[in-house]
Amino acid sequence: MSQGFTTTILHSDRQSPIEHGALHKPSHLAVAYGFDNAQDLVDVFQGRNPSYAYSRQGSPTATALEAKLTKMEDGLGTITFSSGMAALTAVFTTLLKAGDHLISSAFLFGNTNSLLETLENLGIQIDFADVTDAEHVRALVKPNTRMVFTETIANPATQVAALDDIGAICREHGLVYLVDNTMTSPYLFQPKSVGASLSVNSLTKYICGHGNALGGSVTDTGLFDWSAYPNINPAYRGSKPQQQGLVQIKKKSLRDMGATIAPESAHRIAVGAETLSLRMDRACSTAALLAKTLSAHPKVKQVFHPSLAHHPQHERAKRLFRHGGALLSIELADGLDPVAFQNLLKVVVSATHLGDNRTLAIPVAQTIYWEMGLERRQEMGIAESLIRVSIGIEDPEDLLNDFTQALNAI
Ligand code: PLP
Repeated sequence: MSQGFTTTILHSDRQSPIEHGALHKPSHLAVAYGFDNAQDLVDVFQGRNPSYAYSRQGSPTATALEAKLTKMEDGLGTITFSSGMAALTAVFTTLLKAGDHLISSAFLFGNTNSLLETLENLGIQIDFADVTDAEHVRALVKPNTRMVFTETIANPATQVAALDDIGAICREHGLVYLVDNTMTSPYLFQPKSVGASLSVNSLTKYICGHGNALGGSVTDTGLFDWSAYPNINPAYRGSKPQQQGLVQIKKKSLRDMGATIAPESAHRIAVGAETLSLRMDRACSTAALLAKTLSAHPKVKQVFHPSLAHHPQHERAKRLFRHGGALLSIELADGLDPVAFQNLLKVVVSATHLGDNRTLAIPVAQTIYWEMGLERRQEMGIAESLIRVSIGIEDPEDLLNDFTQALNAI
């Protein structure tokens, strides 16, 4: 983008005419679109008319959001979905077939991990790699490997993937490189810069920011040549080579599976996106301040945040990301109860979301990692006293005071 990140997003809607000169693209709720000449309807079906026919396959409100996301990611095009999970499901199920091999990060959002179990049941082979070291990924590449998948910063332990070296391996072997950019958002990091083919965002998180809409997206960076990819349906080979992946994802997922974003949600997310950079600057600098200060508290065993100099991937995070992210995890000193600690917090809310304007905390072992049991948690290094904190945009001193008074009181 030639202008700055925020200027571009703020003025994106007006790149095409909006009714009455409105400054926001309105929320178009119509399900069906009518044509005076039936040939125009035929042309929509046959791909000659870029208009709308039925809103399961897209609406002008979703298109306006997609245009913003494409600019944010410096991509070729974007498709939006009803949630981040819907976006991930769309990519895996439309681009992989039974017998294909997927290499995935071992450090994944729990629901994504569960989704991969479902894919294994459908005949897709999956190996999990320690993505902080690209050589672990290289060692797993097989003749039937089609795709490598990683998140940017994992939660709760904030591991940072070797994003650039994995990109080089994918390029060398002609593999689709899928990056979940949710934890960084396109403001902190553009996966295209490390050679990613596709970038997924849960729009529900930082891009919306206000915790009032679910959404997800897939952006094609334009770097992958789909003409060499074996799983493209012959019906979509007529599109330009760079576009065949997105065409297939859109037809097979939105049209056939229907996980379409609601126009109202697309509108709220587009409004939230206008302030992404301001919110991220604030939340990330507060997260770094809290990580440093709380690390020194005697009732804290350790803090996980990429901004800390002793974080194993600190240098990588500094090199790749604008900031170290707005999520940190706090391991309380041995024997301290994280639930009792959270009950002492007065500003921070106990909630299972992240990327909200409000600071939210969750005791990890007792909630999102409960199902897997103690033994597996210990193998993964998840302490029973670990708290995941998604830092919001409150005044930093209020958050610092809140954590300090709760630590002193417990
Ligand atoms: N990817 C990551 C990294 C996430 O943290 C989440 C949700 O927390 C998702 C995907 C799923 O997003 P959604 O809740 O919008 O389905």
